[in-house]
Amino acid sequence: MGKIVAVANQKGGVGKTTTTVNLAACLADKDKAILVVDMDPQGNASSGFGINKDTLEKTSYELLLGDAELTECKINLPEFKLEIIPASMDLAGAEVELIGINRREFLLANHLKKVKEYYDFILIDCPPSLNMLTINAFCAADSVLVPIQCEFYALEGLSQLINTINLVKKRLNPAVEIEGILFTMYDNRTNLSNQVVEEVRGYMPSKTYNTIIPRNVRLGEAPSYGQPIIYYDDRSKGAESYRSLAAEFLEHNGRLS
Ligand code: ADP
Ligand code: MG
Repeated sequence: MGKIVAVANQKGGVGKTTTTVNLAACLADKDKAILVVDMDPQGNASSGFGINKDTLEKTSYELLLGDAELTECKINLPEFKLEIIPASMDLAGAEVELIGINRREFLLANHLKKVKEYYDFILIDCPPSLNMLTINAFCAADSVLVPIQCEFYALEGLSQLINTINLVKKRLNPAVEIEGILFTMYDNRTNLSNQVVEEVRGYMPSKTYNTIIPRNVRLGEAPSYGQPIIYYDDRSKGAESYRSLAAEFLEHNGRLS
């Protein structure tokens, strides 16, 4: 039975998409069956895998609105050994269009539970907000992976995010847990990065990954080539760190490889 993991943080630019794309690619490279679901209207995860968003007919928007089945929306990417449900800008309007729909929090969950058994992991890239799209991801998910950027305001949104996850757990999806907290864009030349790591580790010691993702130029460049880092530059520090995250992630999930 597969596990569904939402990658979420309501702050923008903290590394959600970078983590979704690269963790997915590293897990797929370890022969895991992976589906990526792009739930951000910006569609950055889709373009990170080289998908041209202008040519898409069926996306997560049509899926959510009930206008397409999952098999019609998903794209197979043999070059990266995984599948993806891409997103388009239309998804930005979904929030309003979903108003009044019965059990609208569970639309994504209802689709994903039908295919869960075919995958080892389904990774959902969430938008930078705690909106109905993110709530749909939390209702579908077994767990939430939270990337945190090592900067001064990193902690500000964390308690709000955890409160939201707890609220979803209490009222909508009792199964949802925190998968782990991942430090991203770490710069070992600054004390600030170290302070953020220490503070969060003190606050949630059992939840933080040992792997820390460094700030790495190659990680920032890879999306413009439409490639996960292990295909763009497997010898970079960024590739090394996401491979290490994938190993730690599998270890936590009891599937050593
Ligand atoms: P989010 O999805 O949370 O908005 P992104 O993953 O899109 O964040 O990252 C924001 C920007 O920072 C992107 O341009 C991305 O390429 C870049 N980036 C992400 N992680 C790193 C990193 N570890 N080192 C350098 N650049 C990064
Ligand atoms: Mg993003």
